[in-house]
Amino acid sequence: AYDLELKKLKKVYPGGTLAVEAFDLQVEKGEFISFVGPSGCGKTTTLRMIAGLESITSGELLIRGKDFTHVRAEQRPTATIFQNYAIFPHMSVAENIAFGLQVRGLDSAEIKRRTDAIIDKLQIGDIRDARESALSGGQKQRVSLARGLVTEPDILLLDEPLGALDANLRKSIQEELKILQRDLGITFIFVTHAQSEALSMGDRVVVMNAGRVEQISSPFDLYTRP
Ligand code: ADP
Ligand code: ADP
Repeated sequence: AYDLELKKLKKVYPGGTLAVEAFDLQVEKGEFISFVGPSGCGKTTTLRMIAGLESITSGELLIRGKDFTHVRAEQRPTATIFQNYAIFPHMSVAENIAFGLQVRGLDSAEIKRRTDAIIDKLQIGDIRDARESALSGGQKQRVSLARGLVTEPDILLLDEPLGALDANLRKSIQEELKILQRDLGITFIFVTHAQSEALSMGDRVVVMNAGRVEQISSPFDLYTRP
């Protein structure tokens, strides 16, 4: 089975906006897929439907062959990284990372084991007791990634995760993300409005326009035959 399969996915918001229409996609395990297109073309809406944060108007969503179209977000094997990081300001970095596991009811030994392992992997041990207000943009980005990955998702969803970073930091985090993704071997879906970023990051690039998929190509094909 595919890691992720979208069949004729459609979203009409209450009020009548047609945000996404006839979105078809098949993703193999371990692929890095970029969604790119102008603001308002439906990238975030599609990502949120995959995450279960937005209901699906019609169509089907399968993860590893299983129908998740109407399954609640907490029960999906996905994790989402948001542009604004969404770190809880009243908790330390380690508490932020552990929180998602506590919500899932894991026992405290397992929570500690997984939290320590991901802090180690993302090299944020030096800030484990810090609060959000003391963190740099790059550190917030790492904490946000750690918080998603600690739940051991099959699919990591990233919504403009580099949007708030300056150009130099963005470049280095792009490289780190690619290395991390290869290392973990899990599927990443990466939303961006920046074509260069979509091309440099994606194994395949989904080009969207006005709620529709315009093209799905390798970066090479898009670059040489746009
Ligand atoms: P992006 O372009 O990164 O998707 P937007 O600025 O378009 O972000 O949207 C920011 C927030 O506003 C999102 O939570 C989105 O769901 C919401 N939003 C966007 N457009 C509308 C709209 N027409 N009506 C209501 N909410 C909207
Ligand atoms: P993108 O992520 O590509 O910027 P979005 O998925 O945020 O695009 O938006 C797609 C369309 O859906 C836009 O027309 C936007 O205004 C609309 N939209 C997004 N969120 C909402 C919402 N919560 N309610 C109503 N319309 C929305």
